[in-house]
Amino acid sequence: MVMPNFAYVLPKSLKGAIQHLTSKDVRIHAGGTDLLGCLRDDILEAKKIVSLSQLSDLRGIRPTTEGGLRIGAMTTVGELTASKIILSRYPALARAASEVASPQLRNQGTIGGNLCQKPRCWYYRGEFHCLRKGGDRCYALNGENQFHCIFGSSGICYIVHPSDIAPVLMAYEASVRIIGPKVTRSLPLEKFYVLPSDEVRKETVLKPNEILTEILLPPSIQGLRSSYRKVRARRSWDFALAGVALALQFREDRVTKARVVLSGAAPIPWRSKGIEGALTGKQLDADTVTQAAEVAVNKAEPLDQNGYKISLFRGMIEEELLAIAKA
Ligand SMILES: Cc1cc2nc3c(=O)[nH]c(=O)nc-3n(C[C@H](O)[C@H](O)[C@H](O)COP(=O)(O)OP(=O)(O)OC[C@H]3O[C@@H](n4cnc5c(N)ncnc54)[C@H](O)[C@@H]3O)c2cc1C
Ligand code: SF4
Repeated sequence: MVMPNFAYVLPKSLKGAIQHLTSKDVRIHAGGTDLLGCLRDDILEAKKIVSLSQLSDLRGIRPTTEGGLRIGAMTTVGELTASKIILSRYPALARAASEVASPQLRNQGTIGGNLCQKPRCWYYRGEFHCLRKGGDRCYALNGENQFHCIFGSSGICYIVHPSDIAPVLMAYEASVRIIGPKVTRSLPLEKFYVLPSDEVRKETVLKPNEILTEILLPPSIQGLRSSYRKVRARRSWDFALAGVALALQFREDRVTKARVVLSGAAPIPWRSKGIEGALTGKQLDADTVTQAAEVAVNKAEPLDQNGYKISLFRGMIEEELLAIAKA
């Protein structure tokens, strides 16, 4: 595979960047760790690449006046792992960022790119013209599907959402800001992702002429216990086989509010309202934990080769809930 020819522009302002986003063949370049592979492997086409590297407004981590945090989309994943404010107020985010890829990729890859990266299904990344590329079938359905999803496919496409950071941000109830030529819009991260049943060729609601500019975290609540656990096939860098982001509020020893989001489970970061319901109002004892972990997987729809994910999720969720109960 060879890299196609394209024009490369480095706008100095956000307005200038948006003015370049005039067609579907124009691509946004953040750190390039995913984009360049997609171009080389012919997954994405590009006539023009718009670099965001000159837009200093999109970098950095700053407290908001409301007591939350604003993270610019061009902030690197490495900066998230090193930020004192993130480590102290949103520790699960620091944890998830430290689980992303390798140190080199964390230094180059940005949080915006991490949230917008393309899926890792090997048919999609390979030379198969599958549904997500505009073809007429899903090759994973009767193929090598051991790393594919157990929720949310609607029998259409079985990718798993690849980001470790998105599930944690969702557990913290983060929102994203998006800028286009005419409007700026903010929406909960939960509404940013698109299921195959809504649109199989898209992963997010972003339009081709829009830029994700920042991620907004609400104030961290005192007594909130949060964590991210990731299980991978190999010890070295790898995407999640299964993961869980937890954000639990307690009053005395009872859970008053729970946000639970799974990774490696579905085409989008998968909020498990079943687990949330099983935890809310309860003491986090062994019975509650067992029930919550059971509820987590009772609606799973495994394929031929990924049934192992059911017991993997069950066991991992149990362990992580027991750990947070002792925290
Ligand atoms: C070998 C390898 C291993 C990896 N392992 C993991 C892992 O374990 N966990 C994990 O979470 N991730 C993993 N990743 C993904 C990695 O984190 C992402 O590649 C990286 O975060 C993307 O950031 P980037 O800035 O390089 O994005 P780019 O490659 O520049 O962009 C990625 C995509 O997002 C779009 N985009 C980027 N920024 C914006 C924006 N602000 N607005 C709109 N669209 C935008 C681009 O157009 C492109 O389509 C891995 C990647 C590689 C190559
Ligand atoms: S799971 Fe989705 S991306 Fe993979 S082959 Fe099937 S349709 Fe394509």
